[in-house]
Amino acid sequence: MSRFFSQKYRELTPYTPGEQPRDMRYIKLNTNESPFPPSPKAQAYAKKAAEDLQLYSDPTCTQLVAAAADYFGIGQDQIVFTNGSDDALNFAFMAFCDDGVVFPDITYGFYEVFAGLNGIAWEKIPLKEDYSICVEDYIGVNRTVFIANPNAPTGIALPLSDIERILQGNPDHVVVIDEAYVDFGGESAVKLIDKYENLLVVQTFSKSRSLAGGRLGFAIGSRALIQDLNTIRFSTNPYNINRMTMAAGVGALEDVTYFRNNCAAIEANRAWTVEALENLGFSVLPSKANFVFATHPKLDGGWLYRSLKARGVLVRHFDKPRLDQHVRITIGSQEQMEALVQTVKKIMEESL
Ligand code: PMP
Repeated sequence: MSRFFSQKYRELTPYTPGEQPRDMRYIKLNTNESPFPPSPKAQAYAKKAAEDLQLYSDPTCTQLVAAAADYFGIGQDQIVFTNGSDDALNFAFMAFCDDGVVFPDITYGFYEVFAGLNGIAWEKIPLKEDYSICVEDYIGVNRTVFIANPNAPTGIALPLSDIERILQGNPDHVVVIDEAYVDFGGESAVKLIDKYENLLVVQTFSKSRSLAGGRLGFAIGSRALIQDLNTIRFSTNPYNINRMTMAAGVGALEDVTYFRNNCAAIEANRAWTVEALENLGFSVLPSKANFVFATHPKLDGGWLYRSLKARGVLVRHFDKPRLDQHVRITIGSQEQMEALVQTVKKIMEESL
């Protein structure tokens, strides 16, 4: 740390992203990326947009906003685009959290980093024994609520009726529903935005639309909430979406069939993987995401992660209480999942 670093940030513990190792080619099932390339339409539009990179990008994202408003059946003033959904989440922390925030004790690790970055008091609410969210704990908390639905790293989804109870139970605070993984079988709260002025839904193009490297996310909510987020956006970086990503986003939204087929493939591969792991003695939490959270009574979580890595299969391990006996496995192509299961089998044959 330099002696010039602001007092405000000296205690900050930054977020640790999943490994992106370059030492060898891994079967990479550790950061919930899509195994499929971006839609050919998204790629073609991005390539074309590269021809105009000497020009700034459109700060109002007109074309992308129109395409998304059309896709979701919402007004063009009910959506704002951001540089990955992390950016939208950070804007929400900046904009709506004067009374502090609550979120589950086991959830996306960036929430507490954003709270720390913005000097916001936070409280973690423990998940139940079965790793599900206890909805009652979120009623009347009088603080801004952040819930990932489906949750990470568990993959467990809440039904919309529970989200509605949380919205009704906190009428004077914003409830942010982070739907990074909603397209793999979850139920989106987007359809509730006209009913609840305190609802903000955040989504990403990183998972179901294969654009993690393009960095494209968005928030959907009431006109007033979106206006507030735009105030923050235009006060930080009005050009937060670059030209190529903006064009790729339009292509990805237009290619509905490609998107639907890929989501269906992930759901099918997930069902296959869960069954194969359960046959090997694993317990797998019920996932509606593009990953599963699995544990085996005879295999230590950290040891399994290291053993898989040594054999070229990368999964994610969290060295934290209640998580350290599990591994989080991204659902990839069928071929990748078969390789994972074969490798787990081999490890078990050699060690048990
Ligand atoms: N929310 C959750 C729950 C996530 O797991 C992630 C991915 N790490 C994000 C948001 C952010 O994704 P991105 O910035 O790529 O849109």
